[in-house]
Amino acid sequence: MTNGYEFCSEAVPEECGVFGIYAPGDDVARIAYFGLFALQHRGQESAGIAVTDGRTIRLHKRMGLVAQAFDEETLSALKGHIAIGHTRYSTTGSSNLANAQPFLEHHRGIPFAIAHNGNLVNALKLRQELEHLGFQFEGTSDSEIIAKLIASYDELDFEQAVMAAMERLQGAFSLVILTPNQLFAVRDPYGVRPLVIGKLNGSHWVIASETCALNPVGAVYVRDVEPGETVIVDEKGLHIVKWAEITRPSLCIFEFVYLARPDSHLYGRNVHMIRRRMGQILAREHPADADVVIPVPDTGIPAALGYSEASGIPYAEGFIKNRYIHRTFIQPSQRQRELGVRIKLTPLREVLEGKRVVVVEDSIVRGTTTRAIVGMLREAGAKEIHVRISSPPYRFPCFYGIDTAARSELIAAQLDVEEIRRYIGADSLGYLSLEGLIEAVGGDGERFCRACFDGRYPIPIPHHLRLSKHLFEEEVPDLLPVR
Ligand code: SF4
Repeated sequence: MTNGYEFCSEAVPEECGVFGIYAPGDDVARIAYFGLFALQHRGQESAGIAVTDGRTIRLHKRMGLVAQAFDEETLSALKGHIAIGHTRYSTTGSSNLANAQPFLEHHRGIPFAIAHNGNLVNALKLRQELEHLGFQFEGTSDSEIIAKLIASYDELDFEQAVMAAMERLQGAFSLVILTPNQLFAVRDPYGVRPLVIGKLNGSHWVIASETCALNPVGAVYVRDVEPGETVIVDEKGLHIVKWAEITRPSLCIFEFVYLARPDSHLYGRNVHMIRRRMGQILAREHPADADVVIPVPDTGIPAALGYSEASGIPYAEGFIKNRYIHRTFIQPSQRQRELGVRIKLTPLREVLEGKRVVVVEDSIVRGTTTRAIVGMLREAGAKEIHVRISSPPYRFPCFYGIDTAARSELIAAQLDVEEIRRYIGADSLGYLSLEGLIEAVGGDGERFCRACFDGRYPIPIPHHLRLSKHLFEEEVPDLLPVR
């Protein structure tokens, strides 16, 4: 460990939402605020907006939800015609304002701001190089590294500096960058994290992590930022620079399972309908003799509907969800996760008592949440509990922007399906197969990263990162590295 970075919790990645708007004459800060509001599910730790009026860049960022980070006063102070925004999700250890985004940096004395979704796999190497050049870091996030890397190319003009920096980055990155007169959007050559372009009022441009952020601000979808593309918007309009060849498009398949909002479209397909299809295929692969199908709300709802449609077993709400609790996925300790699920979900005894219940969940990561859910269903009087998971066993850690656990903490990396069934206390357990998941998302598995299910990482993972998540090559010698 060289600087406290390599194995600190920040070495594990974050999932985030980014937003950009180029709209002279409009209240861009307010539009960015509502864009971020629609992307709140991608990160609840901190939120920030940077705005330019053509001369300077004003930045406001705070810990907490978008609605907590901004009020009328802060938004009114953010005057300008271009804005970028960010919602951040992180692990607890790195949850501080120094890592909140956007980041402000200078290139040749001119300010720029940057916001990032994804995770670099060569961050440590780049950071060490930049420190060697004399750059000092406030926090531990990849975004600050990208900002300083762009700043380091001071012999180039800004556009060239962005391109030069992008060619040094390895990993997953969907970026928005703001200068006093331009908005940039960049997507890595694998296209791991989504990024889309929208049009507002016929002449203004919007960039967002997901299409769900377009409609609330009145924008219409134009197209995706393709892998390996940089989009530049300025007074001349929008133009696109292809800066890298697509090696292999590798959109994160877990976006379909859990991450993306159900009203978003990925690869042109609606996420809700795909989750419903996952449930239909799950019913085909793992039928159950049961009286009722219930979801674990909210992400389990479409798959439970699909399971009900395909099986003919009636659908019902078996849990009431407290909507003011954030995703238990991001709680820091096992104890908090166990408490969190009880605070978040209350079983409906009137629906469950004496019934044979199919309960549909999107995934099992550590197993503690599912175990608590099964326990609550038993307490509520369910006669039989058949757990159905609308994704395959989650066996490998993610290095491309999702903070799951180390491999040693992933229950499916340690136990087989029957052992997991016993651990969670269910009467039966069935996972959607990888083939079933690929069928649900459109049938061409080669267009996706699905490494957390099959260990085939499209972007090679450096040794120190593998170790940080207990991914030892001897356990998966035929799978690592993939290419
Ligand atoms: Fe998505 Fe899994 Fe790939 Fe990570 S490893 S990018 S969660 S499919």
